[in-house]
Amino acid sequence: MSERYSRQELFVPIGKEGQEKIRQKHVLVIGAGALGTGSAESLVRMGVGKLTIVDRDYVEWSNLQRQQLYDEEDAKQRVPKAIAAHKRLSQLNSEVEIHGLVQDVSATEAEQLIRDVDLIMDATDNFDTRMILNDVAQKYNIPWIYGACVGSYGLSYSIIPGKTPCLNCLLETVPIGGLTCDTAGIISPAVQMVVAYQITEALKILVEDDCSLRNQLISFDLWKNQHTSIIVDQLKKQSCPSCGDHPTYPYLEHQSQSKVAVLCGRDTVQIRPSHRITVDLENVANLLSKQADSVVRNPYLVSFKMGDFRLVLFKDGRALIHGTKNIEEAKSFYYRYLG
Ligand SMILES: [Zn+2]
Repeated sequence: MSERYSRQELFVPIGKEGQEKIRQKHVLVIGAGALGTGSAESLVRMGVGKLTIVDRDYVEWSNLQRQQLYDEEDAKQRVPKAIAAHKRLSQLNSEVEIHGLVQDVSATEAEQLIRDVDLIMDATDNFDTRMILNDVAQKYNIPWIYGACVGSYGLSYSIIPGKTPCLNCLLETVPIGGLTCDTAGIISPAVQMVVAYQITEALKILVEDDCSLRNQLISFDLWKNQHTSIIVDQLKKQSCPSCGDHPTYPYLEHQSQSKVAVLCGRDTVQIRPSHRITVDLENVANLLSKQADSVVRNPYLVSFKMGDFRLVLFKDGRALIHGTKNIEEAKSFYYRYLG
């Protein structure tokens, strides 16, 4: 397989030695939307040893414009993104050990996922998960690369525990909130640009070329022709609860995790069962086929319509209720049909 990575090995800062380092690394990609599919494809093609990609959602038609690992069949079948991504990534490079996990990432999952991971790629679409990643990265001393985009705007920053400020340090100074909803739309070059910044930093980390790391928070608006780099070194706080002298990792506090959440920017409520269960999807689909519309079942989920709502139930009992932002309404719907 010497040809496969030859162009990457010819690039002097990587070389054969760097390629071998890449092959020994395990990268965790959190989220398999636009940023996650872009990152994962690059990492798998570049020959990372092991890649784990985690996502809680399934492929919809509105994803195909920018989420590069998916096709029309995935949208028709409502295939979970982690499964569809795993399938496509395996076709791209059979040398890589790939794991696709259909799950929501709260603090508990994050601490389990982090084991033996060398680098975390942020490809989430929500702020809560990012703050969990930030804490877990600090606690276990793992670098992570923040990335976000909306419209034609994007930003990225590499967070190295013990060296750079963390996301929590930047919260009050840098406009990183409110960037996560998909209500404003998005164009694919904004995604590709963030992925390019994230993956370049990832390569530097994987080949251990720390001196070349960017050290600046980068932001851009491709439509408005604006590019900005902000030096943020001074923002590292000794009193930071995530990376300071006496960290408490506030986002890993298990009691602070809600089991029911409105998904950002969407008319969707997610409900997680309070303990681990395994749902017999076939049984549920059979029961529902008598009373619900548009029942779709695949090995990972059942989806059905009832009035204005559409409910998607995953094997682990987690449900997405589309058509409402009202938690009480969503809960009563969930327990009426699945309780
Ligand atoms: Zn901090």
